[in-house]
Amino acid sequence: MFIVETVKEIRKIIKKEKREGKKIGLVPTMGYLHEGHLSLIKKAKEENDFVVVSVFVNPTQFGEGEDYESYPRELERDSNLAKSAGADILFHPFVGEMYPNGYNTYVETYKVTEKLCGASRPGHFRGVTTVVCKLFNIVAPHRAYFGQKDAQQVVVIKQMVRDLNMDIEIIPCPIVREKDGLALSSRNTYLNEEERRAGLILSKSLFKAKEMIENGERDGLKIKDFIVKNIQGEPLANIDYIEVVNSENLESMKKLEQEILIALAVKFGNTRLIDNMRIKIS
Ligand code: AMP
Repeated sequence: MFIVETVKEIRKIIKKEKREGKKIGLVPTMGYLHEGHLSLIKKAKEENDFVVVSVFVNPTQFGEGEDYESYPRELERDSNLAKSAGADILFHPFVGEMYPNGYNTYVETYKVTEKLCGASRPGHFRGVTTVVCKLFNIVAPHRAYFGQKDAQQVVVIKQMVRDLNMDIEIIPCPIVREKDGLALSSRNTYLNEEERRAGLILSKSLFKAKEMIENGERDGLKIKDFIVKNIQGEPLANIDYIEVVNSENLESMKKLEQEILIALAVKFGNTRLIDNMRIKIS
């Protein structure tokens, strides 16, 4: 497996692979890989002939005072893990390669970016769509893999691909969790022992809410209230948002029908964790 740092070099490699008729899969990441990322890489390898994993901590998707500087970076570890999961190339551009002096173009998707994480992190999705659009143009994959862990991101990327007629199939992949339920995240390394324990309230609440729905509850407000109260019962938890929405358009839902997304963001100390659950209503 190669590590490639420039756009020119990766384009040359991809052109050669495509000439040989290979299908290209792309897995965009910010690195510090864990089993969640590896599940995307494995799926990409199953469905494609050649897999590119990008590792790029994208400055444009971080707001002021967020963790851009402190975000964990360990390229050697990442490259070993990516290789073991089946990656053919790790694309690791420097910031100046992606945003050279004089860079002045951004991609912005509206509406679905206005709520949930978009409301708490203004500008975040503009950074995401910009970097993902650039990666799509650089790698020109047939398929790109994204985790449902970032459920809103999947909705936003799908909207961008549809709106801008990008010929790329977006493949959403299920959330990978620790045995005790905590959703894997590179940011979990920020948690101390107490916060790590407290963080379990997120998945516990989501699973309980799912059970309520399976037992017939169809009132979105009751589900939301239940989760809010549950999480407020954890002294270390500081709620950013908890929403019950339509999983396609992210509009709030009072009466639950079709497919719903329960999405939440909660801070433990300085660490903001997100988690969610999609539930088909029968
Ligand atoms: P990140 O490095 O956090 O930007 O994540 C890169 C990709 O991995 C995104 O598509 C995430 O949704 C996905 N991902 C992160 N954590 C998980 C997880 N626990 N399960 C599944 N996918 C994940």
